Amino acid sequence: MSILVVGSVAFDTIETPHHGRADEVLGGSASYFAVAASYFAPVKLVAVIGEDFPTRERDFLASRNIDLSGLTVAPGRTFRWTGRYHEDMNVRDTLDLQLNVFSDFSPVLPDGFRDAPFVFLANINPGLQGGVLDQLAGPPKMIACDTISHWIEGARSELLALLKRVDLFVINDEEARLVSGERNVVRAARKILDLGPKSLLIKRGEYGVLSFSPNSIFAVPAYPLEEVFDPTGAGDSFAGGFLGYLAQTNDLSEANLRKAIVYGSVVASFVVEDFSLRRLHTLTRDDIERRYRQFVSLTEF
Ligand code: AMP
Repeated sequence: MSILVVGSVAFDTIETPHHGRADEVLGGSASYFAVAASYFAPVKLVAVIGEDFPTRERDFLASRNIDLSGLTVAPGRTFRWTGRYHEDMNVRDTLDLQLNVFSDFSPVLPDGFRDAPFVFLANINPGLQGGVLDQLAGPPKMIACDTISHWIEGARSELLALLKRVDLFVINDEEARLVSGERNVVRAARKILDLGPKSLLIKRGEYGVLSFSPNSIFAVPAYPLEEVFDPTGAGDSFAGGFLGYLAQTNDLSEANLRKAIVYGSVVASFVVEDFSLRRLHTLTRDDIERRYRQFVSLTEF
């Protein structure tokens, strides 16, 4: 089953405390999500890039079971983001953000995209995320969305309206606190579930993921890595592995959702081993399966 993703395709500049920096490398929430999900299922990508976007990167995305007919080229420069990680790599600052062609982005779904059974609304303005849902042919099997503090603070009413329309909300712990006003993550989750989503995934960086639905809580650690090179895109590639596995198996049972959370965690653990999407150039589905099995024995008791 296919997955529709709408989000950013970007050039990132990244500074890390111990592994130097990377300048103007491929990034963006939709890029990470799409490549991660494409290990499991076909992906349809909707985003905007500028005239400066290299054919090489476009070819890379196209080589991965990703339909690029919704990738618009607009006059101007591609979206750019610069981030600096702290000694504690769970914390980062945005040093620079140039919206460029992204500032006029209003996603339009090509006809063949409107009936995708799985939908991921990556981090963009919640009003635009809602506009994507308005274009769907009918109710999909699952709608998931992400957001960031910027929208929680600056577009709260649009975000609250969106949350009533989604099945799954994927955010990090800090964002969960901002949405709910609660410091305790379990209380925060309860409050957020009351806002509409059927379930909630809270990403906690190196501490893993907590999954909440009205009747259950499930916890998965992050895969213990000796070295994290660049955490950028971990959240989006987690979501890609998660939804990719669900789309591949077309099984939304509680047991399968739990497996999907582990697949998402596995893909994210590879992405952070190098800058940008570089690790995904060489990663194979066999590598994913191998680490999945390691993950199972890691958490078995
Ligand atoms: P993550 O580390 O999973 O939160 O995703 C990081 C990616 O999000 C980077 O590759 C950025 O290009 C992209 N990004 C950062 N800020 C924004 C924003 N305001 N809107 C859309 N994408 C963004």
